[in-house]
Amino acid sequence: MPAKTVNDIVALCKRRGFIFTGSEIYGGLGGAYDYGPYGVELMKNIRNAWWNAMIYSRNDIEGLDAALISNRLMWKYSGHEGSFSDPLVECKKCGTRMRQDKMKDPTKCDNCGSTDITEPRAYQLMMGLSIGATSDGAINAYLRPETATTTYVNFKNVMDACPHKLPFGIAQIGKAFRNEISPRGFVFRMREFEQAEMQYFINPSEDEKYFEMWKQVRMAWWIDTLGIPAEKLRFTPHEKLAHYAKAAGDIEYEFPDGFDEVEGIHNRQDFDLGSHTKSQKEFKIQAKVLENKDSTVKLAYSDPQTGESFIPFVIETAMGVNRAMLAVMLDAYTEEELPDGKSRIVLKLKPALAPVKAAVIPLARNVPELVTMANGIENDLRKLNIGRIELENSGNIGKNYRRHDEIGTPVCITVDHQSLEDNTVTLRYRDSMKQERVKISDVPQKVMEIIIKNEK
Ligand code: ATP
Repeated sequence: MPAKTVNDIVALCKRRGFIFTGSEIYGGLGGAYDYGPYGVELMKNIRNAWWNAMIYSRNDIEGLDAALISNRLMWKYSGHEGSFSDPLVECKKCGTRMRQDKMKDPTKCDNCGSTDITEPRAYQLMMGLSIGATSDGAINAYLRPETATTTYVNFKNVMDACPHKLPFGIAQIGKAFRNEISPRGFVFRMREFEQAEMQYFINPSEDEKYFEMWKQVRMAWWIDTLGIPAEKLRFTPHEKLAHYAKAAGDIEYEFPDGFDEVEGIHNRQDFDLGSHTKSQKEFKIQAKVLENKDSTVKLAYSDPQTGESFIPFVIETAMGVNRAMLAVMLDAYTEEELPDGKSRIVLKLKPALAPVKAAVIPLARNVPELVTMANGIENDLRKLNIGRIELENSGNIGKNYRRHDEIGTPVCITVDHQSLEDNTVTLRYRDSMKQERVKISDVPQKVMEIIIKNEK
């Protein structure tokens, strides 16, 4: 049985050390979460899987890690300062503030059902900062609300350092901050979150071809790499396009409450480089951009064949890493009845995503020979350099298996008294619960096979 509600995951995350409420001992802070020992591993594995697909498996995309705090002018010309807002309404009866476009029924308060609701007003989502010793408290910088803009302003830096012909991309993973009106759905909508975004710079004549290509490439990644079944994913085109977009849509995952966005794919035309470039009048910019009087650099591409200089179009893929982790956990979460009438919770993760790759368990903690032998296996597995290996030394095998089922460890290796006699151990597989006796010298190879096969 899969997770019925997000609350199943919330409980598991707290119990097993994946995600905690931010500032918890002081009552928490809406929309901020702390990632615990296994949460950081799962997030890192998702990030790595994305980076592998975007950077290491191709030769047309470069990486970047830009600053989180940025010059105010960047967000003026990107259009965020003027228009990155959500429609805020307030219930006059109970005072609840809501994002109008996400209300169940825009005429009724989500909290008390009253129809006495204010007219919507634009609510700025960017978090302003006042930085520097001379600042007088006025906003002079922003925390970035997305990674994309910090990529566009580095277009020339990256091109100069690593020249490419079109099409080529720049990928970035990093934090983003939005003053969301109502954070909700655990880590689904937060005020501090993480994005994995890629901007693909193309010749404008090829925009439809590359928009279609990225739709397919990204959907295949969700299925093959994260292991989400195809029937739990769909692509939904945007009904109303943002003013800069020529085409846009979302990859949606079927959460317990229904399908919702996990990644956006957008044809942003030449809006971004066109907004931030110097000498805008030299180029035939197709999108509607603000006149830029402050940029110091031309963000154009010079065609090596024709010598023509133009502003490339951008196809963007924008994934939320926290939402990806939530989807992966919801999908992997399984409650199973066991033949003995008991039940277990197991996280059926792809081994490449599992926070712990293998656990070594000496059957009794007070037998030094068993512990020494387990330590030896642990050290051999560490040498494989495949991620976190754990030694469990509580002496309660049943509890150990339960814990590792719940955090998704693909295999447990148990060292018992027989091991001391014949140098064999028991491998216990997470999903099938099958046990197999193998020689200690074969354990690293067996574990490596599980990781390479990467099946759940
Ligand atoms: P939404 O419509 O849900 O507010 P968006 O369309 O504004 O999202 P984008 O700006 O396209 O989102 O950001 C790309 C991705 O970043 C989203 O698909 C989502 O996975 C993630 N994301 C956006 N806002 C948040 C948030 N507040 N908390 C967690 N993840 C987010």
